[in-house]
Amino acid sequence: SNNLMAGKRGLIMGLANDKSIAWGIAKALADAGAEMAFSYMGEAFKKRVAPLAEQLNVDTLIDCDVSDPASVDAAFSEIEAKWGKIDFLVHAIGFSDKNELRGRYVDTSRDNFLMTMDISCYSFTSVMQRAEKLMTDGGSALTLTYYGAEQVMPHYNVMGVAKAALEASVKYLAEDLGKDGIRVNAISAGPIKTLAASGIGDFRYILKWNELNSPLRRNVTIEDVGNSALYLLSDLGSGVTGENLHVDAGYHVVGMKAVDAPDI
Ligand code: NAD
Repeated sequence: SNNLMAGKRGLIMGLANDKSIAWGIAKALADAGAEMAFSYMGEAFKKRVAPLAEQLNVDTLIDCDVSDPASVDAAFSEIEAKWGKIDFLVHAIGFSDKNELRGRYVDTSRDNFLMTMDISCYSFTSVMQRAEKLMTDGGSALTLTYYGAEQVMPHYNVMGVAKAALEASVKYLAEDLGKDGIRVNAISAGPIKTLAASGIGDFRYILKWNELNSPLRRNVTIEDVGNSALYLLSDLGSGVTGENLHVDAGYHVVGMKAVDAPDI
C-alpha cells in the first residue's frame, strides 16, 4: 500500500461485480488511501456491490442511471451533501444492445445508436457537468475506452463509434476544465472478460487473439488497469490531461500478426 490518494475523495461509477474494471480501479485507489463512494445501476446490482463496498470500507452506495438526468442530479446532490467537494471521478460505464454487437455495423438501428451514444458517451459529459462544480480544488477524471474506437475490431460496431466520440469528448472536456485544474483522461483497456464484454460477439476469440499478438503476449487484468488509473487519478499524473493511455499489453502498436502466434 501507498499514500498516493491520501486525503482524496471521489466517486466510482460503473461497479457491477468483482470482474468490473471499476473494481480493479477501486482496489488500487483504496490501497492508496482514497475515500470513495460507489454508484451502481439498479437495485439488482446492489446485492453484488454492497459486499464489495464493505470490503473497502466504502459506506456510500448510490443508485444512479446515467440515462436519467434526474438520477444523475440526485447522485451528485448526495455526494455534495456528504462531502461538499470531490477530488476524482471514475466513469466506467458503457452499454449497447448486444444484438448489434455482432453482424455488420451498417445495420445499426437509430434507436440503439442513440441509446449507445447516450449511455456510453454523453453520460461522461453529463457527469462532468456536475463533477466540475464539486471539484473546487481541481481534480482528476477518468473514463474507459477501447481500441475499437481507433480501428475496426470485429463485432464492436456501434460501440466503436460511441467510443470514438467519447475519446473526442475527453479532449474537449480537458480543454474546458483545465483552467480550473481539472484533468480529464481516458484509459484504453485491452479486452477483459467482464459482464459488459460478454455481450460482444466472439469475445473469447478477441481475448485469445490479443493474448497471442500483443507485445507482452498476455491479456491485461483489472489490476493492471487499476494501477494505471492510480497514476492518472493521483498527483503522479499532475501534468497529464486529454490523454488516452493504452493499458493493453501494447496491442495498439502492433501492425502485423506475431510470427510465433499459432492460427486460432
Ligand atoms: P461491467 O459490466 O463490469 O461495467 C459496465 C457498467 O456500466 C456496469 O456497472 C453497468 O451497470 C454500467 N451501466 C450500464 N448502463 C448504465 C446506465 N444507464 N447507468 C449507469 N450505469 C450503467 O464491464 P466493464 O468491462 O468493467 O466496463 C467498464 C467500462 O470499461 C465500459 O465503458 C467499457 O466499455 C470499458 N471497457 C471494457 C473493456 C473490456 O474488455 N471489458 C475494454 C475496454 C474498455
